[in-house]
Amino acid sequence: MESHATESASVVPIRRSRACDFCAHPDSTVSYPCRDFSLTTAASVKSGEDTLSSNGGFLHVDADQVDRSRFPVVVYRGDWAACDLCRALIEASRIEDLTQRIIEEIRRQSPSTRLTLDDIRLMLLLFWEHRLKAAA
Ligand SMILES: [Zn+2]
Repeated sequence: MESHATESASVVPIRRSRACDFCAHPDSTVSYPCRDFSLTTAASVKSGEDTLSSNGGFLHVDADQVDRSRFPVVVYRGDWAACDLCRALIEASRIEDLTQRIIEEIRRQSPSTRLTLDDIRLMLLLFWEHRLKAAA
């Protein structure tokens, strides 16, 4: 298992007021640089599926191989802002506590939400997969 010292992701202070991308708290204090990524269905992959690759339990494909005209695509762009409490949970790798915090906050703000704990866990897994590590 790698230590956190060598695994630590880069963290950038936020100057302007921005909501937390994890729990939607109005005041985030840091942001985590992250590669852009998208979610869609396997059916959206154009013919020539030999471009599919498997990594981290997910199938990956280049963006130009996805038919965006007929299938929904969820796009995540750029860095992720975090409030102090979410940051503390992220830094401690307390993913389940972060999941509970996020779903409670979403349900408080939008009681009719259809998001589930597994939706949040998937989002966090993808965040961890795509966040950019600090330079060695
Ligand atoms: Zn937060």
